Amino acid sequence: MILIVAEHSNGKLRKSALELAQAGRELARELDVEPVGLILGSGVQECASELARYLPRVRVVDDPALADIRADTWTTAITELAKDLPARVVFLSASRTGLSVGPRVAVRLGAPLLEDVTSLEVDGDSLAATRLAYLARVTERVRAGSLPAVVSVKPNVYALPAASETGSVEAAEISFGERDLRVTVGEKRKPAGGSVALEEASVVVSGGRGLGGAEGFATLVEPLAGLLGAGIAATRAVVDAGWRPYAEQVGQTGKTVAPELYLALGVSGAVQHLSGMNRSKVVVAINKDGDAPIFKAADYGIVGDVHKIVPELTEALREGKG
Ligand code: FAD
Repeated sequence: MILIVAEHSNGKLRKSALELAQAGRELARELDVEPVGLILGSGVQECASELARYLPRVRVVDDPALADIRADTWTTAITELAKDLPARVVFLSASRTGLSVGPRVAVRLGAPLLEDVTSLEVDGDSLAATRLAYLARVTERVRAGSLPAVVSVKPNVYALPAASETGSVEAAEISFGERDLRVTVGEKRKPAGGSVALEEASVVVSGGRGLGGAEGFATLVEPLAGLLGAGIAATRAVVDAGWRPYAEQVGQTGKTVAPELYLALGVSGAVQHLSGMNRSKVVVAINKDGDAPIFKAADYGIVGDVHKIVPELTEALREGKG
């Protein structure tokens, strides 16, 4: 069986969880085994039911000890359920959680670990995968020579599945020991500003060096993103200059996004940036250089100064909404 660990937030499955269901379904077909979803959390029955629309079978551990995401509790729960099934592959999203939990589960299961993969296939008795390595300078082929294996999948690489199942939901219980509960989570505060999760956003407003500084993000990108309910992204040049946090970098060495609409403001369109956003449905670029490569990737383009055009665009959208 394949155990698919589905992440959720605020009572809803994350987009990456659905992509993982799709990846798991494809691999399960190749391995001729059943894909089984897993929901961990507290008060998460609805998430489990939602996942059962995509997978034939879902297991859910609904326990107050899982109210916060803690690597130790997740590791124990996933390991126990993987042994119980038994799972030939444990699938996680290559999110912060997945990248933190995956290695721990692999150690407990004594299983090989393939991390942050962008494609995966069965090759005889082993799994072969592709991933980016060495700060994305190299595409690497990696192989897990034995099963069970633990695999984390890069978000926004797999398509979203159709909701075609009426799967069963089975409750499971895990008894957590003292060592699982050593870390406690205290107060939680939301950061000010862009609070839309970039990898989940259906609209992304992205800024490049053409914005001229952190100020350009505050005055041009943030108001537009706020109006559109969009996630904020940046190029590596921007992040390296310290104008925006690394978490907002899109591209080969940053995040991969696949929104319905990607607005690129003052972004040149370097190939390393494009590889992180070229799955966007519609791309709109604003750049003062008509020969900038971003226009080759764009569906709509405006040649002009972001400082002039973006406020006009924001104003027009605000009036249109009002
Ligand atoms: P620039 O290339 O300097 O472009 C700025 C653009 O703004 C120009 O096109 C200019 O015409 C335009 N502009 C200037 N002023 C205005 C104005 N007033 N109005 C409108 N337009 C204006 N980059 C990433 O983004 N993500 C990655 O993950 C990434 N990974 C990399 C990995 C490796 C191994 C390497 C070597 C590079 C990587 N890069 C990555 C860097 C990438 O090659 C580019 O250097 C970077 O994307 C450029 O960022 P930029 O478009 O903001 O800046």
